[in-house]
Amino acid sequence: MVDCISDSDDSAKFEWESDNEAEPSSAPVLRNFDAPGPSTDANGWANGDAPSTSLVEEYVGMGFPKEMVLKAIKEIGHNDANALLELLLTYKVLGEDPTVGNCSTLGCAPQSVEDDDDGDLDSEDWDDEDDADGGEPNFDSSGDEDFLQEMSEHDKKIKSLVDMGFPEDESNMAIVRCGVDAALTVLVDSIYASQAAGDCNSRNSSHHEVCDSFGGRRNKKKRKQYGGGAQGNRPSECHEELMPLPNPMVGFSLPTARLPSVSRRLPKQATGPPFFYYENVALAPKGVWTIISRNLYDIAPEFVDSKYMCATARKRGYVHNLPIENRSPLLPLPPKTIFEAFPHYKKWWPSWDPRRQLNCVQTCVSSAKLTERIQCALARSGDPPPLHVQKYVMHECRKWNLVWVGKNKVAPLEPDEMEYLLGYPRDHTRGIGKTARYKCLGNSFQVDTVAYHLSVLRDIFPNGLNVLSLFTGIGGGEVALHRLGIHMKTVVSVEISEVNRRILRGWWDQTQTGTLIEIPDVQSFTSDKIRSFIRRFGGFDLIIGGSPCNNLAGSNRHHRDGLEGEHSSLFYHYPRILDTVKDVMAGM
Ligand code: SAH
Repeated sequence: MVDCISDSDDSAKFEWESDNEAEPSSAPVLRNFDAPGPSTDANGWANGDAPSTSLVEEYVGMGFPKEMVLKAIKEIGHNDANALLELLLTYKVLGEDPTVGNCSTLGCAPQSVEDDDDGDLDSEDWDDEDDADGGEPNFDSSGDEDFLQEMSEHDKKIKSLVDMGFPEDESNMAIVRCGVDAALTVLVDSIYASQAAGDCNSRNSSHHEVCDSFGGRRNKKKRKQYGGGAQGNRPSECHEELMPLPNPMVGFSLPTARLPSVSRRLPKQATGPPFFYYENVALAPKGVWTIISRNLYDIAPEFVDSKYMCATARKRGYVHNLPIENRSPLLPLPPKTIFEAFPHYKKWWPSWDPRRQLNCVQTCVSSAKLTERIQCALARSGDPPPLHVQKYVMHECRKWNLVWVGKNKVAPLEPDEMEYLLGYPRDHTRGIGKTARYKCLGNSFQVDTVAYHLSVLRDIFPNGLNVLSLFTGIGGGEVALHRLGIHMKTVVSVEISEVNRRILRGWWDQTQTGTLIEIPDVQSFTSDKIRSFIRRFGGFDLIIGGSPCNNLAGSNRHHRDGLEGEHSSLFYHYPRILDTVKDVMAGM
């Protein structure tokens, strides 16, 4: 049994007039921000109806700041617990930069990482939100009160979407389609869906050709961003304006589902050697993928959500020049649902938790304080808990990827569970501290997804291949090749993190017979060094890597400055190195 004591130290700034806790009404309260709000008394309480201390404490116990609770009650009263919770969650979401990330510096601060470790909450490489079954991404922090007061719900959602890089008219249309109460992720998906529908890559036909070439090499005429899709571009302009952003995010093919077959024409300059495979978060700020593509021969990214391959979501874009026919998956196919992956969780999974897949594995996990709050909220409630408690618990479970490990008891995934979901051997990252494990796993490839794309190399290189691995991390690409049975004669790995290098080296020494060469920093990987490696090994067959996404994903509004950000701009080393390799190999 846990002690259910609120940890809020917010000082009360209001006089309580009543201790009576009103029965929640069952009728939903439809909030209309354009209509006159409820009448307020001299103290500002809606309909003169001051909340009880215990009611306020209930929400404070859920982790909402007292000020926020009072403000929400003032806005809509407290007769509808469900509507009140919705509003509080909206405040939380909008109190942060409402982008794709799950763990902003702001957002993590109150409930940071597991406290069984060094507690070092490093915001590096925050991953994207991902939303396996429609939950909202994010967040925390009460945010800017004036800002919240001034804007209607509709305006707030528009602002959020525009801040994420979507054009205002498309954002507006998405709200019209989905309703103002739709979660941001739902709105984002709707915009993508409408863009994809306007794209020339219609998935209605049984065969479609991907608009891969945007008309040549890099630094051509600057293309419009995604938003162009709804602004009058039609198929004839497709090559100039659009990149395919499929919804569902299934890429060119999946191992199991029957999709319309896809063929693509690569620009001549993009065809090998070497093969290359570049990865980054799909939901990056406006224009990022356009720039990435432009720097990689105008090849359109293949956007894939790994939830179609395994039990966890992971939305990524991949720009590559690999053949896309005759792919084959790693066998056995990984489990696709939580219960297939972790049958023992079924015992404690409440019927009102509809999740069957997990959200994206992140670089940080929830605090013990949060799971305790959830336990308290459930312990105070009956079984099943009232809807607003269910909603609160579901919100946190989705946001932090929590699983049921006991009665009323949720917990974050363990690192070895993440390894399993992401396709790594058990204990791949063991021995480096829990926080570090979460961080490197949160940034890593989903191995089954990447292996599916790389599988075409098996027949092309039956005797093995030479790999240049940029931003290697914990070696997702290498693990994928190994699991495919593709021999790596040589891997030149460029990875700055000593911890990650140690993980790769440990795995390599246990499993490989080829040569591993480690280089710490892409910035010092000069043309001369590249040339000398190529002379030594006779060239690279594959260049693989995903550059840091710190400035692309996450909700840290101060540092999310796109590809020009301090870390994300390391991307430019990828095309630089690729160009050099191509040039040197062409002259051999
Ligand atoms: N695909 C990898 C993870 C990539 S995340 C995997 O499967 O694990 C980006 C990686 O780039 C991180 O591991 C980070 O440590 C590394 N990195 C950051 N700056 C770098 C630099 N200057 N040179 C080389 N690697 C760098």
